[in-house]
Amino acid sequence: MARYVYDFTEGGRDMAGLLGGKGSNLAEMTRLGLPVPPGFTLTTEACRSVLDTGGEPPGLWEEVAGHLTDLETGSGRLLGQPDNPLLLSVRSGARFSMPGMMETILDIGLDDDSVHGLAKVSGNERFAWDSYRRLVQMLGTTVMGVDPSLFERALTQLKEARGVPDDVHLDAEDLARLVETYKNVIHQETGERFPQSPVEQLRRAVLAVFASWNGERARLYRRREHIADDLGTAVNVQRMVFGNLGSDSGSGVAFTRDPATGARGLYGDYLPNAQGEDVVAGIRNTVPLTELKRLDPGAYGRLRAHMETLERHYRDLCDIEFTIERGTLWMLQTRVGKRTAEAAFVLSADLADEGLITADEGLARVSGEGLARLMFPRFDTAVTGDVLARGVPASPGAAVGAAVFDSAEAVRRAADGERVVLIRQETTPDDLPGMIAAQAVLTSRGGKTSHAAVVARGMGKVCVCGADELTVDTGARRCTAPDGTIVEEGTVLSVDGTAGTVYAGAVPLVDSAVMRYLEAGAGGRATTGVVDAVARALARADAVRRLEVRANADTPQDAVRARRFGAQGIGLCRTEHMFLGERRKLVEEMILAGTDAGRERALAALLPLQREDFTGILEAMDGLPVTIRLLDPPLHEFLPDRADLAVRIATAEARGEEPDAHDAELLAAVGRMHEENPMLGLRGVRLGLVVPGLVAMQVRALGEAVAQRLAAGGAPRAEIMVPLVGDVRELRLVREEVERVLAEVSDTSGVPVTCPVGTMIELPRAALTAGRIAEDAEFFSFGTNDLTQTTWGFSRDDVEAEFFSAYLDRGVFPVSPFETLDRDGVGRLVGIAVEEGRATRPDLTIGVCGEHGGDPDSVHFFHSAGLDYVSCSPFRVPVARLEAGRAALDLADAGDSR
Ligand code: PEP
Ligand code: MG
Repeated sequence: MARYVYDFTEGGRDMAGLLGGKGSNLAEMTRLGLPVPPGFTLTTEACRSVLDTGGEPPGLWEEVAGHLTDLETGSGRLLGQPDNPLLLSVRSGARFSMPGMMETILDIGLDDDSVHGLAKVSGNERFAWDSYRRLVQMLGTTVMGVDPSLFERALTQLKEARGVPDDVHLDAEDLARLVETYKNVIHQETGERFPQSPVEQLRRAVLAVFASWNGERARLYRRREHIADDLGTAVNVQRMVFGNLGSDSGSGVAFTRDPATGARGLYGDYLPNAQGEDVVAGIRNTVPLTELKRLDPGAYGRLRAHMETLERHYRDLCDIEFTIERGTLWMLQTRVGKRTAEAAFVLSADLADEGLITADEGLARVSGEGLARLMFPRFDTAVTGDVLARGVPASPGAAVGAAVFDSAEAVRRAADGERVVLIRQETTPDDLPGMIAAQAVLTSRGGKTSHAAVVARGMGKVCVCGADELTVDTGARRCTAPDGTIVEEGTVLSVDGTAGTVYAGAVPLVDSAVMRYLEAGAGGRATTGVVDAVARALARADAVRRLEVRANADTPQDAVRARRFGAQGIGLCRTEHMFLGERRKLVEEMILAGTDAGRERALAALLPLQREDFTGILEAMDGLPVTIRLLDPPLHEFLPDRADLAVRIATAEARGEEPDAHDAELLAAVGRMHEENPMLGLRGVRLGLVVPGLVAMQVRALGEAVAQRLAAGGAPRAEIMVPLVGDVRELRLVREEVERVLAEVSDTSGVPVTCPVGTMIELPRAALTAGRIAEDAEFFSFGTNDLTQTTWGFSRDDVEAEFFSAYLDRGVFPVSPFETLDRDGVGRLVGIAVEEGRATRPDLTIGVCGEHGGDPDSVHFFHSAGLDYVSCSPFRVPVARLEAGRAALDLADAGDSR
């Protein structure tokens, strides 16, 4: 028969799934011989059975009764014994800590008789009645469903009647009266009497705790923390010990090290003459733990020793709750403590130094997400302003600047040394100069893979996008917040890209020492504990990882920075920026050219400019692979906005003037090229196949750059990547052209130039026909942005702001698939493509260059899928290095830091 109850002497820390975190750790402490009040745990399985069936599994209460008898025998007291009652606490405890989200009921076992017994044995009548009224209140609300405010009102009325300011001034007689009032409230509200049978109190309390697993608070918390809904909670039934029996008693919480910084030394708070709940509730001021040393040196010494035992045993920072009952120390809870990112790194390094953990365990206990947090300047969280608006936290960090509403203004003000926040409805490649000039980018539309988000992350720039509560009026140069606040150009704002919040005014910033260290590259020196700890974790990750880490970088400056951050090449150089700025005129000419000669002229003018770009990037990445992607976006992105053109022409006509002929020509071209779904239209490889000379020009520019670098004694390793391929024949056509052009370049320059040609895998059809595609591809790179877009049928520029919050709320997925790779769908396509691609070509190099390449969870997936490298924005390179290292460890052995 199934077993549902375990005594604390029977369990252990490896049973957290069954006994919950609290129960398994209480059992572990019991086994270690620490002073834990005796008790037993009802399993999560019992909870699941009760919640699933609505009834109790057979044998449950018989088992509880048996354990209760043992508890009574061991303590020499009976539950409900009138002259000396055994009292119990009933506490929830799930597999993962869910602080304060479920119910706790204390002082079970008090009734109208035993309250007198408790008064006598404790020698403290007030304490007995106070305990009883707490029980009536807790059971009344959690078990019997009475509105808590009714009890609060009764308490307030009594205090007023007695003319006292707080509970402490109520005496035993007052509290006895209050118990009667409370019991009447219960009777009036429920038609039921407060249960006088302690066994019934216990049974109902246990069921109420089980039920609280499905309470609204608990469900919300689980959703946010990604904890599964079907785990259920265990329930711990334990002998009560009292910290409120006088000045020789008290309760406290403590950490074996500082959970904020990881620094060595006991940290904690103590509250004399109080129960644990009072400490947590913060009703009275606690004193630092060091004060306990003075108040009760004996108990303090024992506490220190127990904490050392725990830290050595768990080999990690532990937090505990304890109570001192008349000089006797009791340990009520322990667990591996939560910590900040900084503390996680410092602890890993220190514990490894102390020989408690290995370097690999240290690596397992830190995270890329934590590292990212340490890299960005942060707002001083002690100081917060008024939240003006919320959006999608697209690129983390904190920035302060004056609001500006267009790129030119951003550039102008930044040139004068002003810090600015660029606010747009959404950004386009045109906004690039403004984005570069700004401290932060804020948009009212678009999600995590919108242009603003991708570009901002690439630049390590703070970005909040899709803040659709903001009404952005770029024409009037202002935006309006939901509370009606109008932000005029020049108003100072603070943007928190980690939280996705925007504040009015300047919230103070704290600088990042870790970033300063990483920016210094190989010459960087660890100046502080946390920087040293980060450096060591990265070194370990580099030593163990199998995945290489490249960067997505489009300019020599980005390439240089990526290299400093440890990038082993460029996995994606998007060439579209090479068509912007001054060069747009040439692109316009190319598009508008009526004749082959005209188009060739425009292309010929673009060629030397692109060659310069390529030379710079190859030089910055000398000796390392540089994957150049042929032009991908639809061409109309390089033409002026259709509406702007139409307005210009209409305005001219209204004035009776002749509209600019060039404008008219452009408008016609824009009209011709208009597409309803440009992301599924004429872009990627399709452009190369229909715009004569485009591929040849890009390849020639690259080939000549390679030849130049070779002639200069460099070691250029350019690779040519074709975007949006769906069929091998598309790739073959482009490949033939590439080979033809490179042969010509070799002939003319006299330097033999070859470049591997590969393809992005970013359409489901490409993944499904990867075996064929590999015949013509020397490498694959998964474009998981487009692959997610096309697999789900989600427009990457729209859906995050439009309906993802509803999808997240309703549990369709726990995290956006544009952020963390959807393993079941997109991941399956990746798996197929890897397998079939390698079946055709065993030495096929395979990487990923979508945004997921810098996402910790996705990096683990790519490791297990057998990829060769991930490529991500330069600022994510250290994060990806760390996670690639962690992915290579057998994480089954790692501590659970949740
Ligand atoms: C992708 O689709 O994942 C990709 C890297 O290309 P882009 O984001 O430029 O479309
Ligand atoms: Mg793409």
